[in-house]
Amino acid sequence: AKPALSDLAIARAARLEDIDVVADAAGIPRSRLEHHGRHLAKVHLAAADDLADRPAAKYVVVTAITPTPLGEGKTTTAIGLAQGLAQLGARATVTLRQPSMGPTFGIKGGAAGAGLSQVLPMEKLNLHLTGDFHAVTAAHNLLAAMLDNHLHHGNELGIDVRSISWRRVLDVDDRALRGIVEGLGARIDGVPRQSGFDITAASEVMVILALSTSLKDLRERLGRVVVAFTTAGRPVTAEDLRAAGAMAVILKDALEPNLLQTSENTPVLVHTGPFGNIATGNSSVVADLIGIRTGDYLLTEAGFGSDMGAERFFNVKCRVSGLRPDAAVLVATVRSLKAHSGHYEVVAGRPLPPEMLAERPAAVQSGAANLRRHLEIVRSFGVSPVVAINAFPGDFPSEHAVIRRVAEAAGARVAVSTHVSDGGAGAKALAEAVVEACDDPHDYVPTYELDEPLRQKIEAVATRVYGADGVDLAPQAAKDLERFERLGFGGFPVVIAKTHLSLSSDPTLRGDPRGWRLPVREVRVAAGAGYVYAISGEMRTMPGLPRHPAAESIDLDEHGEVVGLS
Ligand code: ADP
Ligand code: MG
Repeated sequence: AKPALSDLAIARAARLEDIDVVADAAGIPRSRLEHHGRHLAKVHLAAADDLADRPAAKYVVVTAITPTPLGEGKTTTAIGLAQGLAQLGARATVTLRQPSMGPTFGIKGGAAGAGLSQVLPMEKLNLHLTGDFHAVTAAHNLLAAMLDNHLHHGNELGIDVRSISWRRVLDVDDRALRGIVEGLGARIDGVPRQSGFDITAASEVMVILALSTSLKDLRERLGRVVVAFTTAGRPVTAEDLRAAGAMAVILKDALEPNLLQTSENTPVLVHTGPFGNIATGNSSVVADLIGIRTGDYLLTEAGFGSDMGAERFFNVKCRVSGLRPDAAVLVATVRSLKAHSGHYEVVAGRPLPPEMLAERPAAVQSGAANLRRHLEIVRSFGVSPVVAINAFPGDFPSEHAVIRRVAEAAGARVAVSTHVSDGGAGAKALAEAVVEACDDPHDYVPTYELDEPLRQKIEAVATRVYGADGVDLAPQAAKDLERFERLGFGGFPVVIAKTHLSLSSDPTLRGDPRGWRLPVREVRVAAGAGYVYAISGEMRTMPGLPRHPAAESIDLDEHGEVVGLS
């Protein structure tokens, strides 16, 4: 069972290694570190050149079946697996997203893993880390200020004020800022208009940081950001507003990944945190380009289920990085398969219904369709999946046995992993399965080719990945797709913003929903990031806080130590 101590207490009791020693093990020269205290450092991008002659690691993406709102343990499994590989004598580095402070103080709590498979120092990880999110906020809002300033001084570019899509961002869950009126007051106080705030993770600047391969690439991508259209329908960019250079200056240090360590002192690169629904939901390309030369295995987590983060990993991130995965880990839990049976009501921000904790192998079995479907999705990208059964304290062996049978019947490798209570020793079987899976024949198979029309690319993801019968484009969405093709954005990959709580676009449908069509209400372009995104259903880009946010239990104790961070 999971130790009774809180994750924070376990994290604090852990013995941390100096970050120099962690870097040594990864082969990263100490001279390439920018220290932020003893246990945290930024890694200069030049480290990639120093490491260029070292062999490339096996590259493994960690994804999951359709999660419950609680998350199924991808982060903690990626960490446990790295520790498990170390137990087998292999060197493994993990790359992860930086958690957003919105959810940390809101519903989900921290995202540093759990128990004996955490990223340390967890307080740094869950709070400001080295300030990269603040840099994203500052760069994003500078562009917003320069845009409003341009309007104030006469709108020389002829911007159609109603077409402005560039809002402001903050790293906080604050529903009251979703819609605002700005520029109120006198004439000197700016041009009044409606706008709003998104969470920093939803900023296009965040995805740009995640996808840039160099400072030069970052600068160019920032220049291509489209903030509005002119009354004649021409895109207005950050370059047109002469803001991109200053934005790149603000972001210069933020392009460097952050080196931390696991509970067992193995290297972790944490970098960027693009939103999982409207953006890519994957950590940065530069962290992977460095990480791929730091050991025998590079494990990277892709957000949400395989239909979401892993789909963008294969179709967007891998295309930018040029890296090709060797295998995939599919995290499954007893509780999520029970949720897919449709017999229980699982609600975000509420504890699981107690009847879900009883021994119910039959309920696990009736949720199995979801697991089978995710195995097909992973295989569609050309790699072998390994099912990681992330063991929770209240699970029963009979329930694990059901998952094992389902996975084996589908021809997949499978292992129960107890890394949360046992650390790397509990992930050895999983590590062995992953080592084998990397040696299976594999190939990189994207869902679509970039030269297909945008509409066809959206249909390919909807039908081949989500299992939809087809796509219903709202008239405006169809027009916008044609317009984007005309404007030269037709060669971009696509990101589909849909719920992560179902394979379908309806969050209440469990298992493997069939006989449905994907509605697309709106399409937008993220020209700096380099994709077109289609919005299906209601998409929140600024979360709200629950009735009792996690923030209520977070405090400093009498010694000045953080308490209540989970
Ligand atoms: P994901 O990355 O898939 O969102 P996380 O690894 O962040 O998932 O885990 C989600 C939540 O579940 C965290 O609060 C974590 O502490 C908890 N958790 C994950 N795995 C276990 C486990 N095996 N036992 C107990 N708690 C777990
Ligand atoms: Mg995670």
